[in-house]
Amino acid sequence: MKTSIATVSISGELPEKLEAIAKAGFDGVEIFENDFLAFDGSPRDVGRMVRDYGLEITLFQPFRDFEGMPEPHRSRTFDRAERKFDIMQELGTDLVLVCSNVSPVSLGGIDRAAADFHELGERAAKRGLKVGYEALAWGRHIFDHRDAWEIVRRADHPNIGLILDSFHTLARKIDIGSIRSVPKDKIFIVQLADAPLIDMDLLYWSRHFRNMPGEGDLPVADFVAAVAATGYDGYLSLEIFNDQFRGGSPKAIAADGHRSLVYLGDQVRRRPDAASLTVPSMPDRAAVAGVAFIEFSVGKADVEPLSAMLYSLGFRKTATHKTKNVSVYQQGEVRILINREEVGFASNAYAVHGASAYAMALQVEDAAAAMARAVALGAAPFSQPVGPDEVEVPAIRGVGGALIYLLDAKTDLGRIWDIDFTPAQDEVTPEPAHLLAVDHVAQTVAYEEMLTWLLFYTAIFETEKSPMVDIIDPSGVVRSQVIQNGEGTLRITMNGAENRRTLAGHFIAETFGSGIQHIAFRTEDIFATAAALRANGFKALPISPNYYGDVEARFGLDPELTERLKAGNILYDRDEQGEYFQLYSGTYGEGFFFEIVQRSGYRGYGAANAIFRIAALKKQIRPEGMPVA
Ligand code: MG
Ligand code: MG
Repeated sequence: MKTSIATVSISGELPEKLEAIAKAGFDGVEIFENDFLAFDGSPRDVGRMVRDYGLEITLFQPFRDFEGMPEPHRSRTFDRAERKFDIMQELGTDLVLVCSNVSPVSLGGIDRAAADFHELGERAAKRGLKVGYEALAWGRHIFDHRDAWEIVRRADHPNIGLILDSFHTLARKIDIGSIRSVPKDKIFIVQLADAPLIDMDLLYWSRHFRNMPGEGDLPVADFVAAVAATGYDGYLSLEIFNDQFRGGSPKAIAADGHRSLVYLGDQVRRRPDAASLTVPSMPDRAAVAGVAFIEFSVGKADVEPLSAMLYSLGFRKTATHKTKNVSVYQQGEVRILINREEVGFASNAYAVHGASAYAMALQVEDAAAAMARAVALGAAPFSQPVGPDEVEVPAIRGVGGALIYLLDAKTDLGRIWDIDFTPAQDEVTPEPAHLLAVDHVAQTVAYEEMLTWLLFYTAIFETEKSPMVDIIDPSGVVRSQVIQNGEGTLRITMNGAENRRTLAGHFIAETFGSGIQHIAFRTEDIFATAAALRANGFKALPISPNYYGDVEARFGLDPELTERLKAGNILYDRDEQGEYFQLYSGTYGEGFFFEIVQRSGYRGYGAANAIFRIAALKKQIRPEGMPVA
């Protein structure tokens, strides 16, 4: 399997695109005619530039409205073809993509089209070129790869072949089993794109909403498995039309694209009938048993307020690092680290973002294997010097450049608390608040980064995504996407902020980047927790009394329960599986907060309550009367 991407998939000028594509690790690039026309150099210059980046031109496209034309159009299309051939020879590529005709004057008929392709094949052969035919999902006569294949078969010319495009086939729900019988030498190239399931006009959907395999909802891996069953082991080429990507960072989009293909190759490699695909092997997706710790980087002045908040949540200080200025606060399985080092990554994170949760550690079975997979998928490894007897914890850069540490129980990593830390105590011994574990970690990102991190988490860790939902903030909509595993031992909610007046947007703007905005702990008895918190002087986020009247009516709650909820500022939700109770802290810094949840089978995250919670939090960040922007 070789990787390629069409220049149309990413933003920027042609040289910028090529640089990003080469850096991301692609082997080849499809040159889109418009990119080429907008560039001032000659076709030869473009060809040289591509090769200087170590890339191969996989094809030149598009050549439109070719087959089935009546005269005089027919003669003119052949003239146009000859001119495309001239450009291809100068560029240094031997394959052109012909997409199925959409012209209203074109005539149908498989044999007519086959005859046109036979003649085109003769002309291409004279120049040593090849022509690939692709069925557009909205072609006038040909909109199904099975018909395109029948035309190619009848054209019966070695220089004429088929181009498959996952979008066109999957968008029309065409049986992909039909691909398996196409001879592999007749598949000239395979183009890939995913898309979110939206019921809309096919052309509009394709031109604006395609995304990288794994980012959408189409069964692209099944499609590639069917292709691999033919024995095809050539280029898999991304052809992504997406408005957001065209406005995004070329480097980031190219890196996502490469990651999506490597992940796809790994998924397909594991299928019994796809053995022909040569893909480097990598360890399985890492199963996560829990969040082992969360680490804050803070300045001197932040230690007191943050530790006070932890005490009020029932945490106790249990350890300090042997050589670094790091303290551990613990309750149940939850460990919170406060790092006050003045050198190293944590202090840099503090300098950039202010006090923030800059790292989380995930408990996996085999940290080295998880690390190997992450690196194979293009994640940036992170390391910094450790003391002579200290444990070196493998880590990668995650959302907003923050760290994801990987811990396991099979190596010294499992004894890190004994090796790197000494037990410590404080005078403050708050009432335990029955917090058991981290329920979820909420990360806030810019809206256009959401797909990047969705792909990152699902490719590296054994997780699944849930459909995106809209959260209503009084100042705008925030998109929310959950990534979680089946056991519920890793739950990440990702909120995408489109404007800075929303709470999520404010957080990003004021902390200079994406990061962990809230951490939710799990309890099995929210009322016992609330009582302990009260005893510890915890200040719960005050919820509007109006909320309780509404929630009582909506769910038909016993008024006595409503009173208890109201007394504890506890929010309530329910789904088919069970009940959900939520309780929030006030904000810390520029919008960070803690949450406590009790879920009895409930699978969601209280999206319906978000508007009340956000309104209450915003009152704390900006006193009444002050403008939010
Ligand atoms: Mg295509
Ligand atoms: Mg939450």
